[in-house]
Amino acid sequence: MTFMTPVRIMAAALSIAAAYGCSSQPKPPTAAAPAHAGGIDLAGMDRSTAPGDDFFTFTNGTWFKTTEIPPDRSTAGTWTVLSDLAQQRTRELIENIAKPGAATSPDERRIADYFTSYMDEPAIETKALEPIKPFLASIAAIGDRRGVSSWACGEIRADVDALNATNFATDRLFGVWISPALDDPTSYVPYLLQGGLGMPDRDYYVDASADMQKIREAYRSHIAATLRLAGIANPDEVGGRVFALETKIANVHATRTESGDVQHANNPWPRAEFATRAPGIDWTACFDAAGLAQVPRLIVWHPAAVTGISALVGQEPVSVWREYLTYHAIDRYAALLPKAFADESFAFYGKTLSGLEAQRPRWKRAVDATSNALGDLVGQLYVRRYFPAESKQQLQVMVKNLVAAFDTRVGSLDWMDPKTKASARAKLGTLQVGLGYPNKWRDYSSLEIKSGDALMNAWRAERFTYLQNLAKLGRPVERSEWAMTPQTVNALNLPILNGLNFPAAILEPPFFDASASVAANYGSIGAIIGHEISHSFDDQGSQFDASGQLRNWWTPADFAHFKETSAKLVQQYNAYVPMADLHVNGQLTLSENIADLAGLAAAFDAYRQARTAPPPAAAATFTSDQEFFISFGQSWRSKLREPLMRQLILTDGHAPDRFRAATVRNLDAWYDAFGVKAGQKQYLAPPDRVRVW
Ligand SMILES: [Zn+2]
Repeated sequence: MTFMTPVRIMAAALSIAAAYGCSSQPKPPTAAAPAHAGGIDLAGMDRSTAPGDDFFTFTNGTWFKTTEIPPDRSTAGTWTVLSDLAQQRTRELIENIAKPGAATSPDERRIADYFTSYMDEPAIETKALEPIKPFLASIAAIGDRRGVSSWACGEIRADVDALNATNFATDRLFGVWISPALDDPTSYVPYLLQGGLGMPDRDYYVDASADMQKIREAYRSHIAATLRLAGIANPDEVGGRVFALETKIANVHATRTESGDVQHANNPWPRAEFATRAPGIDWTACFDAAGLAQVPRLIVWHPAAVTGISALVGQEPVSVWREYLTYHAIDRYAALLPKAFADESFAFYGKTLSGLEAQRPRWKRAVDATSNALGDLVGQLYVRRYFPAESKQQLQVMVKNLVAAFDTRVGSLDWMDPKTKASARAKLGTLQVGLGYPNKWRDYSSLEIKSGDALMNAWRAERFTYLQNLAKLGRPVERSEWAMTPQTVNALNLPILNGLNFPAAILEPPFFDASASVAANYGSIGAIIGHEISHSFDDQGSQFDASGQLRNWWTPADFAHFKETSAKLVQQYNAYVPMADLHVNGQLTLSENIADLAGLAAAFDAYRQARTAPPPAAAATFTSDQEFFISFGQSWRSKLREPLMRQLILTDGHAPDRFRAATVRNLDAWYDAFGVKAGQKQYLAPPDRVRVW
């Protein structure tokens, strides 16, 4: 469970980098000191709006009015400021190493060669389709279903993550995720997930709305255009068949909501039984090609889809599978083929699917690609330069205080059974909190990166990541493992490991500032830490015990009470109407709203405990309680393009940021801090304020 959903440009697997916008505030927040008071941006507020009427506008109104979303982005806000900062820093680190003669170690050489090869557009143009010709030739030689199985499974990568980063989409026939087993968290197992679609979700293929129909037409044209560029004969007809096959795959896919239901995901299948449980694919050939020939069992996350996809391999003509595999082999690497391919890819994945107006400059794509492909190598440089030990120490204290605040809150619940409480507190006691970066870095010495070989560098890096994941099988579980790179702006709860990741790139102003006030830091990063802790105990987290085993440790009565309380929160969010024809889906966003609420409440307690400085002088602009809440409101500063807003309201587990800022309505302390009174728009009568923990 993440803190927020990265806005992705889904395209070729190569460009899954988060596409947060560059913001209209080019200066990093640290440079904007004069406008800040102890960590708060005074200039961005709209103090003519009463905090009790619209807290988001009170804290962010002037910023919202004056900010424009850049053409190559679909959002602007606090997150984009930080993403830009991380990207700028990563760029400097990479470019410095890429200067002639600057790389001194083999790992630095890898970074330099990956980046410069990606940037070398003339060489990419000259090579044209040369780098993927061996792939296309080997697909053309496929003569039977065994060949289809072998090729398709040979391209499986560890590119999905069902529980941590919750990424369910892959354009490869299946996705593999290596993680501790749901029924035995002491050993790793491969999870097999549905895949095979070029668009983000099955709904894009089957939803009857006019908007989706338009997107489907654009996708069909995109397939044909890509094939045409590659010189494939009869691209429109071939493209039509590829699209029809994908639609059949989409029809056997689980929905996004079903994918999130872990109770239906724990389906261990012995490897030897795939042939009878899911006939069609030659599973021996498949597992051989995927490097899984030795595993005794896999957990099949999407059993109906795996069966359905396998049946399609058995039924659909081999010639159509060849066309499908050919298209995806080209589309997947469009970013590293000549410009015409990259532009075509952007026209569909960037413009149509994400509403972008302009493509990001090459350097940004190259920085993100390098940073993804060589995550830990770039990450090490990043933290060495930008994550001081003092930051880590200060945050460790905050985490300790947040955990203590949570423990106290859980301990004082009058409705919770002592047994449930004891399990909850045991979970807090074994929580693994990663701050900044992992304890152990990945070893890249077996990865070959060649100068001037951009496309194959990408291919080898993906395969390297896959093999590194396979190598975990049979080894003891690494409980402090990370599932995000340090240069990522996000935060993560890892349910099976009972762990949290807070990458260095989010531990930055305005979320965290070693020189800001205690109130501002707890209102911002404190609430984020609290949010992630809460996920360990919500409707999802309550299904995993302290050891990470899938086991519900709530008593039925406790769970019923929890459901009842959360129903009030569902209603509260259902009442928000961000677009004339759309209200927020209180049920879809429930877990995240609970996490926001519980995180804010625990952060407030922890801040009160940690507050050591005397209260600010009477002349101060705000009291420290006010500062805490304003800092929280400002952490939700964001602006989105309308198509993206619509898409997220329909599919994202997080509520729109404006309403996440309104979480404050449920805390009595907010009413006290700002003198919020009945009759004001965001006022809630005390019985309507939701308290989860
Ligand atoms: Zn979350």
